Amino acid sequence: MIHYTLVCSHAHEFDGWFPSSAGFDAQAARGLVECPVCGDKSVSRGLMAPAIPAKSNARPDPVAVPVCEPAETPAVVEPPAPNVAMAGAQMPDQLRAALQKLRAEVERNCEDVGNAFADEARRMHRGESAHRAIYGQTTEAQAEELQDEGVPITMIPWVAPADG
Ligand SMILES: [Zn+2]
Repeated sequence: MIHYTLVCSHAHEFDGWFPSSAGFDAQAARGLVECPVCGDKSVSRGLMAPAIPAKSNARPDPVAVPVCEPAETPAVVEPPAPNVAMAGAQMPDQLRAALQKLRAEVERNCEDVGNAFADEARRMHRGESAHRAIYGQTTEAQAEELQDEGVPITMIPWVAPADG
């Protein structure tokens, strides 16, 4: 038996059971199917009620990917070479001091993941590992890959510490 929701030409909906799809067609063609409300014999099959999963089960909850807030949780990369090369001049003391301060801040607030930076930053970005501030070494190629993938990273010049 097949259950159909039927609709007459006056948009009354009612249920009908038929031996088969062809059985419905045959009965309808012979005028054996009529609307119980108005007696209309112009009856067609309504839409089968689709099986809709509960809304909460329709799709998995979006994975909460923590948003990197650069100001608070910098993902820092130690570049193998400075991004900007200075020549013909010593690095001004003020700049060196600022970079030393930056390095100290990073070391205090971020976890050193060393050479695993690229992998770890990627995992963190995908929500596969705990979101936190990390820093470490990466090659320029790795850094470019990460940026292409939308992983927020910041390259900073890594100067020698102030009190080495
Ligand atoms: Zn009707």
